[in-house]
Amino acid sequence: MTKKADTKFKRAAERGSHDFPLACKILDTGKICHVGFSVDEQPYVVPMAYARFENQLLIHGSVASRLVKNLSSGLQCCVTVTHYDGLVYARSTFHSSMNYRSVMVFGVARTIEDTEEKRVGVQALVDHLMPGRREELRQSSSQELNATSLLTLPIETFSIKCRTGPPEDLKSDLDHPVWAGVVPLSVCPGEPVDAPDLLPGISRPDYL
Ligand SMILES: Cc1cc2nc3c(=O)[nH]c(=O)nc-3n(C[C@H](O)[C@H](O)[C@H](O)COP(=O)(O)OP(=O)(O)OC[C@H]3O[C@@H](n4cnc5c(N)ncnc54)[C@H](O)[C@@H]3O)c2cc1C
Repeated sequence: MTKKADTKFKRAAERGSHDFPLACKILDTGKICHVGFSVDEQPYVVPMAYARFENQLLIHGSVASRLVKNLSSGLQCCVTVTHYDGLVYARSTFHSSMNYRSVMVFGVARTIEDTEEKRVGVQALVDHLMPGRREELRQSSSQELNATSLLTLPIETFSIKCRTGPPEDLKSDLDHPVWAGVVPLSVCPGEPVDAPDLLPGISRPDYL
C-alpha cells in the first residue's frame, strides 16, 4: 500500500506553504532536482534534470539506470528542488542562515509508455531546460527514445519552504560590532563557448 508522506511543517512552520501556484513558480525557475528513494534500506539521493508539465514533474533517464528501474516499479520517492538565494550573515553562528526556496514533491512516479505522451513529455523537458532549442534539433530516433525512460510524478503531495530577508539576530547581539546582512546569490549564464567542431558560418542563436 502506498503511504502518503507527512508534509505538515514542524520546524520553522512560518516558512512553509502548500500553495500550488507558488510551487509551480519555484519549480519553473529551476533546472535540477534531487530524487530521493530507498532500496533495501539504503537511501539514495540522485541529482537530475527535470521539468514541470502542468501538474506533473517529468524526469528522464536510461532504461538501465537503478533509479528508473526502481521508480518505475512503484517505489515511493521524494523529489526536491532548491534555489539557494543568499548567505545570511548574522551576528552569531546560531542565527547565521541561508535564504532559499525549496519544494519537495512526494509520491510514486509512473513510466510514460504511450509514444505520443512520451513525445510531448520529452518536448516539455527540452523546452524547460533549453527554451527555444527544440525547433532546431533533429528528431530523436526510435532507438534513442527506446533507450530513455520518461517518468512522471504528480505534484499532489508537496510542500514548500522559503526563507527571505535579513538576519534575525537576538536583540542582545545587535550591538556586536561586526558586519551583518545578506549576500545575494544566483545562477547566471556565462559567455557561450562554441563547440570546437562547429560548422563555419553558424552564429549564436538569440535564445542563448
Ligand atoms: C538551501 C537550504 C539550506 C538549509 N540549511 C539548513 C541547515 O543547515 N540546518 C537545518 O536545520 N535546516 C536547514 N534547511 C531547512 C531544512 O530544509 C528543513 O526545513 C529543516 O531542517 C527542518 O527539517 P525537518 O525534517 O525537521 O522538518 P519538519 O518540519 O519535520 O518537516 C516536515 C515536513 O515539512 C516539509 N519540509 C521540511 N523542510 C522542507 C523544505 N526545505 N522544503 C520543502 N518542504 C520541507 C516536508 O514535507 C517534511 O516532510 C535548509 C534549507 C535549504 C533549502
